Amino acid sequence: MATIGFIGLGNMGLPMAQNLLKAGHAVAGFDLGAKAKAAATEAGIDVADSIAAAVTGAEVVVTMLPAGPQVRAVYAGEAGVLATAAADALLIDCSTIDVETAREVAAMAAKSGRRMVDAPVSGGVGGAAAGTLTFMVGGSEASFAEAEPILAAMGRTIVHAGDAGTGQAAKICNNMMLGIQMISVCEAMALAEKLGLEQQKLFDISAKASGQCWSLTTYCPVPGPVPTSPANRDYQPGFTAAMMLKDLKLAQAAAQAVGAATPLGAEAAQLYALFALEGNEGLDFSAIMKMMRGRSG
Ligand code: NAD
Repeated sequence: MATIGFIGLGNMGLPMAQNLLKAGHAVAGFDLGAKAKAAATEAGIDVADSIAAAVTGAEVVVTMLPAGPQVRAVYAGEAGVLATAAADALLIDCSTIDVETAREVAAMAAKSGRRMVDAPVSGGVGGAAAGTLTFMVGGSEASFAEAEPILAAMGRTIVHAGDAGTGQAAKICNNMMLGIQMISVCEAMALAEKLGLEQQKLFDISAKASGQCWSLTTYCPVPGPVPTSPANRDYQPGFTAAMMLKDLKLAQAAAQAVGAATPLGAEAAQLYALFALEGNEGLDFSAIMKMMRGRSG
């Protein structure tokens, strides 16, 4: 069992840290937010009052932070992880961030002599609590092999995507597919409604035909066909429209950086931006069904 410093005890980080604790690891945590600190203390995490205090003596450092700037600050800041963690600590960043920052921070870690992987997740808060997350891991074979048993305490599927940054690349490519697919299912459901075709019937047919996809069969954006989907509980998240917009923007920035044409990804980002502007950013991302019906504002 390992001694782990865990930075970022928010909606995802806290349940992930709890699963590390449950698996028998020793976990010291840190977060900037008073609320997050209090919730973590209540959950039995040993909460430190600085990054340095959380990572001192840690064999592994795990971070789960909002975006690239926070990851850069936490690792490369004056009293950050690279300045305070043990010289041989393994560093695992589980945040969803831009590929460029992930590669820069990994290069800084390598320069300091440490192993680092980017390991963003899919599965949301439910998956974090259940310990069933999917991890997409970028880094060397050796670092992946070291990180895998730690990640196994928090997730069910752990995939080595390639070198540094490819975990983030996998995450944004996957979520770009997801955003586009969700909009396509919503458009088809809204059209079916107007054509007098029952949505349950379209579901029954397309779930067995070539329109089949996860957004339809596991996360159906209309109430009824999949009782566990957020559509059945007024689109309470789940995975928020704001999170989907964040990932679609990351995908667009990455596409521009490498000159890739992603016209449907661009359109999906625009639609989610409009949907968020209309005050829906806290709803589940499948609530974009409302927009396709012309009732999102
Ligand atoms: P969150 O905002 O609930 O948690 C982030 C935490 O980081 C907060 O508690 C915040 O106080 C803390 N933090 C910010 N800057 C800090 C700093 N400099 N030092 C220490 N702590 C700091 O966000 P979340 O929902 O837990 O998401 C975390 C990451 O996981 C994001 O990158 C997100 O895109 C990704 N993600 C989230 C979900 C989801 O469903 N929530 C799903 C997949 C991936």
